[in-house]
Amino acid sequence: MSSLTFFGGINEIGGNKILLEQNNSKIFLDFGQSFSLLDDFFLQESYLSPRERFGLKDYFEFNLMPKLPGLYSKEALEHTNLAYQEPECDGIFITHAHMDHVAHLKYLHPNIPIYMGETTKKILESTAETTRQKFWTDESEIKTFRTNKEMQIGEFNITPVHVDHSVPGAYGFIIETKEGNIAYSGDLRSHGRKPQLTKDFIKKAQSSDPKLLIIEGTRVAENETRKNHTEPYVYEQSKKVAQSTQGLILAMRYPKDLDRFMTFYQIAKETGKKLVISLKTAHLVQTLKQDEGLQMPDPFHNEHIQVYERKLTKYPAWQKEYLDKCIEAADVRQNQEDVLLELDFYYLNELVDIQPQMGACIHSMSEPFEEDPVSQMGEKVLFQWLNHFKLAHHQLHASGHASKEEIFQMIEEIDAKKVAPVHTHHPELFPRHLKIEKGQKIEI
Ligand SMILES: [Zn+2]
Repeated sequence: MSSLTFFGGINEIGGNKILLEQNNSKIFLDFGQSFSLLDDFFLQESYLSPRERFGLKDYFEFNLMPKLPGLYSKEALEHTNLAYQEPECDGIFITHAHMDHVAHLKYLHPNIPIYMGETTKKILESTAETTRQKFWTDESEIKTFRTNKEMQIGEFNITPVHVDHSVPGAYGFIIETKEGNIAYSGDLRSHGRKPQLTKDFIKKAQSSDPKLLIIEGTRVAENETRKNHTEPYVYEQSKKVAQSTQGLILAMRYPKDLDRFMTFYQIAKETGKKLVISLKTAHLVQTLKQDEGLQMPDPFHNEHIQVYERKLTKYPAWQKEYLDKCIEAADVRQNQEDVLLELDFYYLNELVDIQPQMGACIHSMSEPFEEDPVSQMGEKVLFQWLNHFKLAHHQLHASGHASKEEIFQMIEEIDAKKVAPVHTHHPELFPRHLKIEKGQKIEI
């Protein structure tokens, strides 16, 4: 008998944590942090958050993590009432490097192997080094794969297949069980720079004749209010902004969205400008440059890329070796006309040193959520800054997720007998959907 239990990703965007069991074999698909459930008891970006020094204690109190034996490390359980046990799980399979899919790996027992794409490992290692976040313990065993590599884990046969998403190295999985095949989409879209990857997944999933399709539905809603742009559209419109703007151009994007980085890099090249990036981005791009498939430029040896040094009183060790290759605020100030400056919201105060005279800001991230006061407050602050420095605002973004129409089209093409909607607020809108309760076992 095979069964699935969804410990996260049900009636919420993110937090995917799906247990697949068959006799004595157990694997998890993704092990992310639920943002919406965490928000019920804690506030992101504020001082009320779970106390990391007590491991899983605060998480268990509010049922924010599965209370399963044989899953967690001694340290994670030390302050909880769940007894430590030797591991009883064959592996964790990660689709991609976003926090809502990986954030809780650090609590796992180090003897449970974690499987992820080669690129995902590189992204998380670079992020760990540049942000002091920890994604797994020093003893954890990380095993990497590339697309189509079949793996036999316990009684399951698992094949990762690449998909297009807003972070490189994203995968879906095809899993053979005794009761039939399961396809799991992870997060995906067909309107990025590499739609072919998603097509490959759909084809492979369809030919496996799956009994069950677990598929994301971030943008599935009765009516979608936000715009439905493609990456080529963002490129074309942003290029127009770059060509028609006098003065400095700010480009704001999600740090791991390297498709968008490539879009801005291409625009810089074609308009004779320089893309000025942060040291964090430079570190990530340089790490991924080793992967030829991604075709990343060398951030320190490219005539259209410069790396920006934020003035600090003390520099972290990883920055030191790069500092003599960086430019500073004064360099940007003197060459405003020729610069496309990538700047995170948190570093807007660099503008005080740069003193833009005029220009534009390409906001290449989601529009603020109506129901999210933090993102609305953030937008208000952003507009104040842009007005102060006479920068015109342009909202130009392509989502990392397929639209409702695209998702439903995929469901039709893959043609599984049943559909398990995850990563969505509207599972009830999906065709052939299973009714799923968080933490409740479902037989396949
Ligand atoms: Zn994602």
